[in-house]
Amino acid sequence: MSKFIFITGGVVSALGKGIAAASIGALLEAGGLRVALQKLDPYINVDPGTLSPIEHGEVYVTDDGCETDLDLGHYERFTSIKTSFSNNYTAGRIYYDVIKKERRGDYLGNTVKVVPHITDDIKKAIKAVATEDCDVVIVEIGGTVGDIEGLPFLEAIRQFRYDVGRENVLYLHLTLVPYIKTAGELKTKPTQHSVKELRKIGIQPDILLCRADRKLTNEVKRKIAINCNLDIDAVVTAMDVETVYEIPLYFESEGLDKLIKKKLLLNLSQADMSEWTEVVKKVKEPKLETMIAIVGKYTGLKDSYKSLIEALTHGGIANSARVNLRWVDSEEVKAKGVDNIMSGVDGIFVPGGFGSRGIEGKIEAIRYAREEQIPFFGICLGMQCAVIEFSRNVCNLSANSTEFDIDTENPVIHLIKKWYNPREGKIEERIKESEMGGTMRLGAYPCVLKEGTQAFKIYGIKEISERHRHRYEFNNKYRDIFTKNGFVISGVSPNNELVEVVELSDHPWFLGCQFHPEFRSKPTEPHPLFKSFIKASIKNKGFFPKLSG
Ligand code: GLN
Repeated sequence: MSKFIFITGGVVSALGKGIAAASIGALLEAGGLRVALQKLDPYINVDPGTLSPIEHGEVYVTDDGCETDLDLGHYERFTSIKTSFSNNYTAGRIYYDVIKKERRGDYLGNTVKVVPHITDDIKKAIKAVATEDCDVVIVEIGGTVGDIEGLPFLEAIRQFRYDVGRENVLYLHLTLVPYIKTAGELKTKPTQHSVKELRKIGIQPDILLCRADRKLTNEVKRKIAINCNLDIDAVVTAMDVETVYEIPLYFESEGLDKLIKKKLLLNLSQADMSEWTEVVKKVKEPKLETMIAIVGKYTGLKDSYKSLIEALTHGGIANSARVNLRWVDSEEVKAKGVDNIMSGVDGIFVPGGFGSRGIEGKIEAIRYAREEQIPFFGICLGMQCAVIEFSRNVCNLSANSTEFDIDTENPVIHLIKKWYNPREGKIEERIKESEMGGTMRLGAYPCVLKEGTQAFKIYGIKEISERHRHRYEFNNKYRDIFTKNGFVISGVSPNNELVEVVELSDHPWFLGCQFHPEFRSKPTEPHPLFKSFIKASIKNKGFFPKLSG
């Protein structure tokens, strides 16, 4: 039977619960256990697909096409698991399912209540990830203890220990221990209050992970332990570190794995942390460096591009290089002048996005990259912008995507009315241009690479599979005119219906892909496209800059 670790957060949000959960997963895997991770989000949206990336950060897409919380990205990057539909539940999804059942008459005249109906469905969702081949399920509860929304989830996890046995459940609470400069002290009161809040609803944490900017002294630990009803060794510092990939190592050095082993009576071996040590060494002691411009719309909140930033970092890890990012607001490219904005830049990157704002700036940046022979990498919308740029400036067409101009003379990117979905084994249809909800191509689809192309060389294989999240596609009517002008269509869907990868033959590194490779990149297995793009950017201008110092 699987054991369960429930992770809650206290005092403030943004303490890094997702990273903590993922790092514990990494640590247990390094000790030979098989883990599963799940995120329970207390908000009412049925999934995060409709949330603003500026408010909530990136929407992470799983292989099976589920739009999920960005924490699932951490889970996949830190562990060997592949997440799916069952790894992320929102309160909205739980309530929606219960209400559907009520409408169907499944509750046979009962009054449907938060306890037991909502809590039962939450427990069922947790148990569903505890498959036979999983030793430990790590469940992260979104939000902060004390929030009204979180109560049904906390009640469900409280009951869980009662259902599956005391020795099979561990409650871990991540809290903040702030250092108050004027007093010259670490303050334990917010933690005491947060634990009190948890105990009020019947949960006594077994381990406290105390986020602090310095190590907790024994005296501070003792104070927390006495007041929160814990052994002193169950109070662990979660200190700020230079790179998130250091956290599994840090937890190991604090003995967190041994503590979990003791509390859950696990058969855990000495963790082999060599892979993580290697990753951290490459991040902290790079031999080279490069400067990448990211031309996007949501540059205000970096979490909107979480997986992307990580994937670029992984590209750096693969090349022992530090990847510096210059965030360029696409709306400013024209006003400030592309030459000025791109001075000192070794590679230009255009990420995915939705809507017309800032499109012309992205196209201008791509023109500059193409003409100046600067490595260019475009993902999803970035690839679509590269297509528009080429059609306008090389093929001399008045062109656009129908997402931005429905009446464009040459709709080089458009909505495809019908396409074959190999995952479902059926033809998908889109009826109206305005029919947006639920019409995206989501999740992993196969793509065949053309031999001899740059993409084929980079991947080293013919058939790949990558994750998607978009509605618009390359318009096949323009394949001929594009290829005649030097545009290479290097990857297509197996039935040749959809264009997946494009590149230029007369350029050192110019590639666009309709999919999102960033969702598959890991620090321990950097994605080949990011690895190659960073390599080309380091080489750009013919020199290998050395780091000073
Ligand atoms: N807006 C574009 C589309 O829907 C691109 C989406 C994206 O970049 N994820 O096709």
